[in-house]
Order: sequence, then structure tokens, then C-alpha cells
Amino acid sequence: MEEMKRKRIIFYYVLAIVLPCLILGILAFRGIKNDQALVEREQRRNLLEAGQQIIQETDAYLSSIENSFAEIIDSIANPRKTIFRDSILNRFSAQHHTVAGIFFLSGAGAPLLLNNGMLYVPDDFLTVTDVAGSQTTRFILEKGWQFEFRENNYPKALEYYQNVLQNVTGGQSGGEILNAIARVQKKIKLDDEAIETYDLVWNDYPQVLIRNKIPLGAVALLEKSLLYLKKKDTIPALKTVRLLMSQMQKPMWKLGYSHYANFISKIDEIISRCEGSPDEETGRWMQRIQSVKDSLSLSEKHTEYLLAFLGNSELIFGNTEPGREIDNHRHKTRINGKPYLFSLIPGNDHGHWGLIMDNDHILHDTIHPLILKNANGSDFYWELTGINGELLLKSDYIPEDTPPVYSAFPSNLPSWSLTLYPEEPGLFVSLFRQGKGLFFYIFIVILIILACGLFFTLQTVNNELHLSRMKSYFMSTVSHEFKSPLTSIRQMAEMLVHGRVPSPERQQKYYTRILQQSERLSHLIDNILDFSKMEEGQKIFRFERADITPVVKEMVESFQKITADEGFLISLSITEPLPDVVFDHEAMEQVIHNLIDNACKYSGESRTIEVQLYPEGNKIVISVRDQGVGIRKEDKNKIFSRFYRAGEELTQAVKGSGIGLTIVKQIVESHQGEVTVESNPGKGSIFNVILPISQK
Ligand code: ADP
Repeated sequence: MEEMKRKRIIFYYVLAIVLPCLILGILAFRGIKNDQALVEREQRRNLLEAGQQIIQETDAYLSSIENSFAEIIDSIANPRKTIFRDSILNRFSAQHHTVAGIFFLSGAGAPLLLNNGMLYVPDDFLTVTDVAGSQTTRFILEKGWQFEFRENNYPKALEYYQNVLQNVTGGQSGGEILNAIARVQKKIKLDDEAIETYDLVWNDYPQVLIRNKIPLGAVALLEKSLLYLKKKDTIPALKTVRLLMSQMQKPMWKLGYSHYANFISKIDEIISRCEGSPDEETGRWMQRIQSVKDSLSLSEKHTEYLLAFLGNSELIFGNTEPGREIDNHRHKTRINGKPYLFSLIPGNDHGHWGLIMDNDHILHDTIHPLILKNANGSDFYWELTGINGELLLKSDYIPEDTPPVYSAFPSNLPSWSLTLYPEEPGLFVSLFRQGKGLFFYIFIVILIILACGLFFTLQTVNNELHLSRMKSYFMSTVSHEFKSPLTSIRQMAEMLVHGRVPSPERQQKYYTRILQQSERLSHLIDNILDFSKMEEGQKIFRFERADITPVVKEMVESFQKITADEGFLISLSITEPLPDVVFDHEAMEQVIHNLIDNACKYSGESRTIEVQLYPEGNKIVISVRDQGVGIRKEDKNKIFSRFYRAGEELTQAVKGSGIGLTIVKQIVESHQGEVTVESNPGKGSIFNVILPISQK
């Protein structure tokens, strides 16, 4: 039966709550999916915009460089040499690291390249000779060479060189003579003197060229370093080499390629000879030198890059005829597999200035920061690829499942393409997007409804089960209560019928007992009937204004009689004058009966019961006090509930149905009154029925 009930409730729960929630849930889920698609579409649009933004900003950045270049070129004279120098342009390119090289394209012929940041130039670029005084120097030195190279008479040569030095003041000759002195000193093993002389050369004539090509400063430093090495002074040798290498990086000398290569191989030789040295200081210097070498090899690449541009100009510009129109602005080309991006800006006399942009610099110092800046606002991951799909840049993480958005760089920028991946818009990301959370809230509401529904259903099922258990318990206790008065009535009636009670007093006693028991039964039945009527809300009261004293008195007297045999002492005290109250006679009888009956039932060993009737303000109080078992604190509120019976032992020891106090409470509340209970376990209880006087 109970199982059936439980199943029915669960069935209703499923029908009324789960099913609608399921339907709502499915609808909400579809809504979320749509929402997600919307979010994704918006995300893709944003990514597309972000990509365009990055490209535009890159373009704007390059344009800003071109514009500032355009501003300065008016003040610059057209260059005349293939590799030229210009301090303004040098400054410009030092300020703009994105500019890898600057060239000038006259109306005809190959471009002319600014010698900035170039380690060397092709050998044939150095053939032009315009070194002043080289003839005089040659004439002066010729005699010394005679002593030095033909006669191998070094002291004589030295003496000669030292003599002529005194009479010479010109830079070129002075430098070359000093260099010859150092050379001879080295030959006759005057190493310290030779070092000192090379020092002088380095300090006073670093830029003087011998044989029109080799700078004296570089020769002096190299020789000095070799001399130190000969003396096994490793550290000064390395220091000097380092100085030499860092000077080579500055645009101080213009070395031809073969001389540059020669210097580098000598330098390498010195370094490798020092490598064997075990001491720490040398180790440290070797490290420093290594870092200079690294940057030197970068510069080498840069030089190669620019020279390749120069060397292949025909490929780039075609056969440039004089006066041919050249498209301004940015162009792209590839030489030896390397990409070139250059801008052409019109200069004087039909010439064009050109800026070769540094792709690596654009990549790392312009685009990368731009991507990071944009990614911050739009939350995306990225990949930047080159023309052949090679990876140039990428974010730490690349989502696998989300389709990316591609943006190709336009033709006036390097041939790269930018791939932007949206952040995976998981279900909940789209749910929580501001203003788009409607379906999410529907979900939450469904969950709450389901949870509450489940909770209340379980609560109801439990209550029902509890109640039905109590009801069946009630049935068995009530039958017991009926059984004992009925049995005694039947036994006494039988004895009377069969004339087995001879004495008239005993007969009288039996009649009284039968009457009492049947009264008890009728109270019991009244209780049950009242209870069921009240449960169904059909109990009808007949209220009238009257004095309640006779009702209380009658009840007390009736109990006095019934319980006299058991030795109960039931006292009644009435505080006069008592105003009339509005009450239903029978119902009030029932209330007082139930309270005194309980007082007797739960008196334990005690036999004293006090009933008091007194006015209190605009109320009257009927109080029933016993000195019995009392009620535990936790039971106090529950004893008025249906079928509730407190305490296991008590319930077993005393017969009862658990509805007496429920009826008391309902009747009293129908009289707009209230029932209170005070109790001390083991010492007794007081039940107060408080009725208002001023009732309609
Ligand atoms: P019952 O038929 O069990 O007496 P009631 O509704 O009259 O049912 O009382 C409910 C419970 O309240 C009782 O089972 C008993 O535990 C407790 N109770 C009622 N009156 C008293 C009292 N005077 N002293 C101690 N316990 C009481």
C-alpha cells in the first residue's frame, strides 16, 4: 500500500515537474546553442577586425617612417659613390631600427648604398684612389724599403725611418712611417717598443690607409695583439682583439671584403691560440669576445643582405633607363631566397631615395607588440606565417578545435599571413557573456525547481508514510482502549443478568461502573468523531455566552467519582467573580475531560491533581496541574500533533490514541483561545486553557 503511494507520488512528481523541466531544458539548451553560434560569429567578426587593425597599424607605422624620411631628404645632396656616407642619413638610420638600409636610385644605373652598418664592401668598390699624398709617402719610404727589404739591414732601416719621421708632418706619411718603424722594431725583436709604436699608430692615425685599402688603425691593433701573444700576455692580446672587432663594427673603416676576411681569420687564429690558456680571467675575456663575435656575424649577415640588394639591382629595377618612371612607395622582391621590402620616395633630379625595411624588426618590434596589444582586448591566440607557411610567431597556446580567422598582409607589406584563433567559446563562456545569459538563468531556474520539487516530494512522501504509520498505530491503540471498558461492561452485565450479584449495594456499584465505562467509551468515541470532523473541517460549534464554572465543576466531580477507587485526589479551586465566556458546551467538556484524563493517565505514582479556574485580565484560565511524569522539553511542541505520543516507555505503559491534545488544541483555537503547557520531567505538568472574555 505504502509502496503504491510512494510510486504514485513519484509518478506525479515526474509528470508535473520533471517532464516540463525537461521540455524547458531542451528548449533552453537549443537557445544556448543558438546563442553560442551568435557569440562565435561575433567573435570571428572581432578577430577579423583585430587582424585588419594589426595590419593597418603596421602599415601606418611604416608610413610614419617614410614620411619622416621624406622630410629630411630635401636637405641631402644626391650621393655620387656606389657606397656613400652621409651623417644625416646615418643619424636617421640609427634612430629608426626598422630601416635596414638606405639607397639612392639615380635616373640611370645601379642604386647607391649608404655605408651604414656595413662591415665591408666588395673589393672592386675600393679601386678608386684618392688618398692624398700617397706619392710623396712612397717617395720618402722608398729608401727605407731598400734597407729593410733588399739589404735586410733592420737597424739601418729603423734609423732611417726614425730620421724621416722628424721631418714629416702629413697624416698619411706620418702614419705609414710610424707603421714601418713598428714593423722593423718587431723584426729586430724590440717587442715592447713595437707595441708602443703601434699604440701611437692606433691613437694618431687610425684612419690612414695603406696601399689605399687597409686602415692603419686595424693593422696596428692586430699587430699589437700578435705581439702580446708572442710575449704570452694573453689578456692584453684578447683585449686588443676585442677592441679591433668592435671598431670593425663602427662605420669608421671601409674594408674590402678580402681584407675583412683576412682580418677575421687572423683574429680567429689569435683567439684559438688563447683558448688553450686555462686561467679564469682569460675564460672571462673569451666569453666577452664571443659576444662581440656573435654581433659581428649578425652584422655580416646584414652586410650580405644589403650587398645582395645592390648586386642584384638589375633584377629588381630592370633596365633602368634615364627618366623612366618608377612607381613610388613600397615594393617587394626576393634575392637568394631572402625577402626585401623597400620604399621608394622621390628625391631631387628624378632620383629616388629608397628605404630597405628590416623584416625581422617589423616582425618582432612592431607586429608582435601590436598583436599582444590587440590580443589583450579581444582574447585570441595567434600564429604568423611566412610566404611558404613557415611559422614566424605564435602564441603560447593554439586551440585545436576552433576554426581560425585568416588575414593576409597586403602587397605593400611583407608577405605574411596572420591566423587568429578565438578563445574556445565553451558552453559556459557563451552563457556568461553579458546580456546573453537568459538561457543560462532559465537553466538555473529549472535546476532550482527540480531541486525544490524533489525536496518537497520527498518531504511529502515521508510525511505521508509517517502519518500512515501513526494511523495504523492509532487503530491498534484505539481498539485496545475500546476493548477494556467493553470487556468490563460485558462481564458486569452478564453477572447482573444471571443474578450472580446478590447484594443490592454491589448491584448499584456495578450499575455505576457500567455507566462510567460507557461514559468513558462515549468520550472516546466523541474524541474520534470530533477528530475526524475537524480533520475534514466539518466540525460545527454551537457557541453561547455562559458561565463556564458548572461545566468545569461537573467534569471535575465526574472524574472524582470515577477515580476515587484508584485514590486520586482531584481538587478544584475557583476564583470568583468569573465573567461569562462564549463557548460550545460539549466541546469544552471534551477539552476539560481530555486534560483531566491525561493528568490521571500520566500521574505515575502521584495521586494529586489540581484544577483551577480563574480570571486573568480579559481572559479566563482553566488550568489542570498534575504531579506526574512530566513532558520532555523536545516533546512539548509535538504532543499537540496528530497521533503523537511522547516517550517510548510511557506510550507502552499507558493506553492512548495520540489525538486527545490535538482535539484540545483545535477546539480551544476555534474559541480564539490558546493552550499552553509548562512541564518539568518527573515533577509534573500544567496545561492552561486560556479563553478570551470579550468574544462575539
Ligand atoms: P494520548 O491518547 O496518548 O494521551 P494525547 O494527545 O492526549 O494522547 O496526549 C499526547 C501525548 O502527550 C501523550 O502521549 C503524553 O505523552 C503526553 N501528555 C499529555 N498530557 C500529559 C500530562 N498531563 N503529563 C505528561 N504527559 C502528557
